[in-house]
Amino acid sequence: MTDIHRDPWLLTPGPLTTSMETKQAMLHDWGSRDAAFIDMTARVRRHLLEIAGAAETHVCVPVQGSGTFAVEATLSTVIPKDGKALVLVNGAYGSRMVKILDYIGRASVTYETPEDTPPNVAEIDAVLAEDTSITHVLAVFCETTSGILNPIEEIADVVKKHGRSLLIDAMSAFGAIPLDAAKVPYDALMASSNKCLEGVPGMGFALIRRAVLEGCKGNAHSLSLDLYDQWQGLEKNGQWRFTPPTHVVAAFDAAIRQFLQEGGIQGRNARYARNCRKLLDGLHGLGFETLLPEKLQAPIIVTVKMPEDPAFDMPHFNDALKDRGFVIYPGKVTVSESFRIGCIGALGDDTIDEALAAIRDILADMGVTNARPAAA
Ligand SMILES: *Cc1c(COP(=O)(O)O)cnc(C)c1O
Repeated sequence: MTDIHRDPWLLTPGPLTTSMETKQAMLHDWGSRDAAFIDMTARVRRHLLEIAGAAETHVCVPVQGSGTFAVEATLSTVIPKDGKALVLVNGAYGSRMVKILDYIGRASVTYETPEDTPPNVAEIDAVLAEDTSITHVLAVFCETTSGILNPIEEIADVVKKHGRSLLIDAMSAFGAIPLDAAKVPYDALMASSNKCLEGVPGMGFALIRRAVLEGCKGNAHSLSLDLYDQWQGLEKNGQWRFTPPTHVVAAFDAAIRQFLQEGGIQGRNARYARNCRKLLDGLHGLGFETLLPEKLQAPIIVTVKMPEDPAFDMPHFNDALKDRGFVIYPGKVTVSESFRIGCIGALGDDTIDEALAAIRDILADMGVTNARPAAA
């Protein structure tokens, strides 16, 4: 019944299922000073800027590590020691930025809304009008905690109106949800190799406005996370300062090639939207309720409320799905008992169909006849 000869499908917020072509790109060794590897790094950096529509205004600085390394590096490099950040929080990734600011000793205030609620832009307007010592605003585009899409264009407008600097954690949206740097002004955007661009984990990157980065010398608290210094190194000889994740870069280069072949953001967005539609309809058909209303739901990850039926056994459900080759993610939201199912990665809606069929079977095995949650 189960195809045990394949890897499980990763229906998670990342790392994600990657294509065979992307995996195969890692079957070589590169020296960090190889001309071919230097070219590859340059190509990846150029493509990332082009995808964002930021080639004229920003520079792409990659950094070794997971996405959080890129966030920490960017906050530390771009926010001066005497700066003060307003962090818009409606999930774990917004909270994580607050924690990073505490670690690196930058002043911050937070504006928090519940995990199923986008920030109110009029209230951000008021906070910025009131507190003129705020220099930077930090926002999460798709808050992967719930899957909510925050109103980044409106946030950018209000930040611009007050002449402050906007930094966006676009980790789980970059490449899948349009964000044109020419229309949404930001000074820095952070993302990583292993989300919607479908590379393997191991590097993050920031797109930083050139005119801003030029003034960032000496801000960073950490040598290895200093993106100004990383940028200077790349400018000098095209090389990473310290050992680059060569295989990760090669896989990312191949993944970006496939992304462009799929039609860039439009193509990827269309596939993920199909996956998400099928997932939502299938879950609702089984009686499940999902956390977010349609207009707030990004086609990235779906938060599913826990069924009320006592026959529903979450650990068993999780294990049984794993046995059938599907990995889902526990809930992280506090507003509701829940779990999450992602719809991103190198997979199509045929895989979502198979996952739904497996879910239906497992519910039947458990004796759950309706997956509806407890009334709120
Ligand atoms: C994945 C993700 C990150 C980075 O997480 P890592 O585990 O460090 O890769 C940051 N922000 C958001 C919104 C994310 O989805």
